[in-house]
Amino acid sequence: MSTNGHFDVLVVGSGASGLAAAVSAERAGARVALATKASIQSCNSAKAQGGIQAAFGEDDSPEQHADDVWRSSHETADLRLVEVLTSEAPAAIRWLEELGVEFTKEEDGGYRLARCGGASRRRLLQVGDRTGHAITAALRDAAESGGATLFPKSPLAGLERGEHGWRARVGEHVLDTATVVLAAGGRGIAEAKERGELSTNHPGATGEVTRIALDAGAEARDLDALQYHPNGGAWPQTLQGYSIPETTRAYGAVLLNADGEEFTDSLGPRDVVSQAIVDEVASGKGVETPDGRPAVYLDTTRIAERDAEISLPYMLRRYRKAGVDPLAEKILTYPVLHYQNGGLVIDTHAETTLEGVYACGEIAGGTHGRNRMMGNSLLECVVFGRRAGRAAAAKASV
Ligand SMILES: Cc1cc2nc3c(=O)[nH]c(=O)nc-3n(C[C@H](O)[C@H](O)[C@H](O)COP(=O)(O)OP(=O)(O)OC[C@H]3O[C@@H](n4cnc5c(N)ncnc54)[C@H](O)[C@@H]3O)c2cc1C
Repeated sequence: MSTNGHFDVLVVGSGASGLAAAVSAERAGARVALATKASIQSCNSAKAQGGIQAAFGEDDSPEQHADDVWRSSHETADLRLVEVLTSEAPAAIRWLEELGVEFTKEEDGGYRLARCGGASRRRLLQVGDRTGHAITAALRDAAESGGATLFPKSPLAGLERGEHGWRARVGEHVLDTATVVLAAGGRGIAEAKERGELSTNHPGATGEVTRIALDAGAEARDLDALQYHPNGGAWPQTLQGYSIPETTRAYGAVLLNADGEEFTDSLGPRDVVSQAIVDEVASGKGVETPDGRPAVYLDTTRIAERDAEISLPYMLRRYRKAGVDPLAEKILTYPVLHYQNGGLVIDTHAETTLEGVYACGEIAGGTHGRNRMMGNSLLECVVFGRRAGRAAAAKASV
């Protein structure tokens, strides 16, 4: 084992939250190490398509946004974290723009805003339907051009208290660091494997960093609350487990049963919509895919061609390549394991219950309570990633 010296801040994970934390810590003057399990590019964040929420509409406000989070969480979210999330959302968007993210705009120059499930206003900003890709690319550029030392292919395998903070085993390296930011995402893949189900997640979403933090004494909340994306692709086979962007429904697609009837509010909170699909199929009103899987219809033919071309080009390309044109025929869908709602307990500066250990992004709990709204995860990554990076740098300098 080689010892790779001392750092002020060690960030674990290179998704949107880890990259935002690394950039922020480095800009606050810290010596930063960023260790990640596979390549720097590998993460769930880059797969995010639909968008990121922020209250920019004239009829909207951070308070309204917070209200929607609270209701969608069925009043289980931590209101202090929700207040931070929604009040800092517009500044987070501006920051991303400074880093080079170009959100889709309307002809009048305003943001193209969509209404996502559980939202009372149109609030979802998009970069076409590759929002996560655009955000992570910009953050990665900023992290790579800063002074952070990168450790790809270096999974965190152990964390213990050291003489001057924490000692971490990452791959072949042992790193001493004053503070640590855990940004290793959720456990969608591990959980799906155990349940024999499909998941939208990337192969690294296995959750061992949460286990390491729990073993070190950190507290967690709502770890049992897993989220099913209402619209996993059910057919064609190459799109099974694909998350059909929720913006399909924001732009007019509706869920239909075998008889062509709408059986739920297609823009309800995610858990409600997912459950409605499962129940509809259980009551015998679903349809079957050619390989015998359960499904219902998502009537994407109701989406206006212009909306699809601006906001769903990637999804259209993928389906058309597989021989299905969603603007000409309904597509088949069924809920798929997608997201870990709960996670490590944090305060408003993203510090866990272990002093000097911070957590941000999907690995942290509280911001969404037991049911996350679409578009609030990328937002959480940026808002709390920045907070974690700054706070970890400040603590390291004391
Ligand atoms: C297909 C898909 C579509 C989505 N669409 C949206 C959307 O439109 N809007 C939205 O807000 N959210 C969306 N989400 C959710 C959102 O993208 C993620 O929840 C969020 O980006 C998670 O970011 P993160 O930084 O916490 O974790 P990730 O982006 O998952 O990054 C975790 C990082 O930690 C690394 N890692 C894992 N284990 C270890 C270890 N032991 N040691 C070191 N590193 C480790 C991983 O390799 C990875 O680099 C979507 C998710 C998926 C999968």
